[in-house]
Parts: sequence; C-alpha cells; structure tokens
Amino acid sequence: MSTEQNENEFIFLSPPHQTGKELAYLQEVLESNYLAPVGPMLNAFEADFTTYTDIPHCAAVSSGTAALHLALLALGITKGDHVWVSTLTFMGGVSPILYQGAIPTFIDSSKTDWTLCPILLKEALAEAAENGTLPKAVIVTDIYGQCCDYAAIRAACEPYNIAIISDSAEAMGAFRDGKHAGYHADIAIFSFNGNKIMTTSGGGMIASHNKEWIERARYLATQAKQPELHYEHTELGYNYRMSNLIAAIGRAQLEQLTERVAIRRDIFSRYQEELGTIDGIRFIPEAEGSQMNCWLTVMLLDPAQIAITPHDLCLALKEKNIEARPVWKPMHQQPVFAEYHAITNGTADTLFATGICLPSGSSLTKAQQERIITTLKSLIQ
Ligand SMILES: *Cc1c(COP(=O)(O)O)cnc(C)c1O
Repeated sequence: MSTEQNENEFIFLSPPHQTGKELAYLQEVLESNYLAPVGPMLNAFEADFTTYTDIPHCAAVSSGTAALHLALLALGITKGDHVWVSTLTFMGGVSPILYQGAIPTFIDSSKTDWTLCPILLKEALAEAAENGTLPKAVIVTDIYGQCCDYAAIRAACEPYNIAIISDSAEAMGAFRDGKHAGYHADIAIFSFNGNKIMTTSGGGMIASHNKEWIERARYLATQAKQPELHYEHTELGYNYRMSNLIAAIGRAQLEQLTERVAIRRDIFSRYQEELGTIDGIRFIPEAEGSQMNCWLTVMLLDPAQIAITPHDLCLALKEKNIEARPVWKPMHQQPVFAEYHAITNGTADTLFATGICLPSGSSLTKAQQERIITTLKSLIQ
C-alpha cells in the first residue's frame, strides 16, 4: 500500500482486533471435529468467562439479544408483565421484552454517569406501587462500558422484590467498586458482536449467581429437550446456543481483554487531553469507583459554543474516511415504541442531541488517532 493510501485509509469506529490465539484455538476445534453447539471449547470458554468476571454460572449463546431473551424467560416474564429498561440503549437491549409480550417502560439516565438514574427509578417505583403497576424486572444498561450504580439500583428495587437484569453487552472488562460489570445484577447479559470490545463475530453470554436460572436458560437455548432418549418436549424452546467453533474465538479474545481495555482507556485519555481543553467540549464522565472499559469514547458538543452538530460532524468525518456515530437514539424516541410510557429527565435526549462516538478500536494506531484529532480540530473550531 502506498503512503498516500495509508494516510487516508478508512478508520472504523470499533473494528474487530485479533492478535491472540484465535487461529490456534479454531484449528484445535476443527481437528477435534466438534463442529457442534456443544463441546470442550465451549465449556472452556464458559469456565474462562467465570474466572474473568467472578460470576459463577454462565451459558454462551448466539447473541446478546438472545441472552437477554433467555434472561426474561428464566425470570418467568410473560405476556402483560411490566419490564422497565434504560431508554439510552441499543435495540437489542429492549426487543426481547416485546418478544415476550411484556410491556416496556423507558427510564432515563443520570447526568453523572449516563446509566439508569436510581433517583428517578426510586420515585417511579413508589408511584407504580401505589398504582399496582410495578415491574417484574428492571433492565439496567452499562452504557458505553460504564457500569451502572448497582448498589443504588438494588436499594431502589429491593423493597418490591424486583429482579435486576444488567445489559452489560458493551461492558466486558468494565468494573465498578472492584467488581466486574453484571456481578451485582440478578442476571447479566453480554454481547460478543463484531463491534464490541471482544468479539466472536456474533455471540453472547448470560451469567448469574443463581445456578437454576442459568440451567433453565441453557435448557431453553437448546430446544427445551427433556432428558429422554427420544425427543420429548413439554414446552417451547429456542435454538440460541453458541457453537463450539465460535467459542474458540471467544477464548482467544478473552485472553486479550485486559490489555484491550488498557488500550481503549489510553485512546480515551488522548482524545480528552487533545480536545477536552476546547470550550464547549466534554467527554463521558467516569463515575467514582467506576473503571470504564472505554468501549467507545463519547464526546459532547455544547451547541452554545460549537457550531457543528454531531450529525453533521459524522458526515464531515466520513468525507475524510473516518467513521463516527451519534450517541444511541433513546428508545422513547423510536417510532416502533411510540405507544409505551417513558419516565424522562431530559438526559438521554440531550446526550443524543449533543454526543458523538469517536473511533475507539484497540487496533487504532497513534498516527491514526492524530489524524482524527487534527481533523476534528479543523471541523470544530
Ligand atoms: C450490542 C448490544 C446489544 C445486543 O447484542 P447482540 O449481540 O448484537 O445481539 C444489546 N444491548 C446493548 C446495550 C448493546 O450495545
């Protein structure tokens, strides 16, 4: 490749990054001929996941969305049940509520860490208790790899015995108060989609301290087969299990995760150092006790001081071969959910209107990041 091409090569937002043992582990599976949704590599991946997160039980599945669906099933969420969920999230963190015929209510974020606001939650639960519309579960999203305030969320939910599901899809390698994302939830789900901090091309995990829930999830994820020689089914199941082949990639990626988090945190710091001094620019705040994985660096543009909008900035960056994205469009603004109730405080709306996600992949070189920063400076000022 010529230098000229190199200088202008396309920079992706968060591309997959291999340097570990993916190929060696894949080869091991191919040689073993375990090309199935069971096998030693899948078991090893789950064991490694438990070691890393300290969450004792888990089941690897085909996606984060499937994992969330299984979490709702394991908790017995069914038609007509209420489930509350962060409005600042991705579609896959909500759609399983509708798969179950349950009713979502969207809850806004806290200004201090952008995760589901425990104060808003507490007030809304007290009101719902009076109206007899309490949710069976609350799904809290560890947004952009920042863990929510599990202690405060638990304090709000405990009086009503409401289950807490953490959507930690974006939060592999993130910690809060020394514990891994999802550790303090009743059930946690994770995603290994291609754009996440570690990937299996597509995949997910459901994890919990409760063995029964994970056993039930595993059973439902493999067509709900009864333990009979013939195929016996007493209820409906799904084909959601991760394949033994794909688990090989997950194992290799997990071995690299700690290092990848460190790289993404460095990328975040450099953006902050170079751009954070410009009037009207802020970055996602790291909460006290929170160790973000910095999956994506999110930058906020104050419209009173910065002329260009995140939308136009994304388009201008694209012209320069740089991929950037607006912050997640809040679910209460999505036409598909127009009929559902939202409890808002304006935070998610503001973040969507003013936020932009910058290229944050762990394979991003310093030269590439300098190119991004220089381009941003020229477009912003
Ligand atoms: C990626 C993501 C999901 C869905 O995960 P998939 O593996 O793509 O199904 C769910 N919730 C959030 C917050 C995500 O970022």
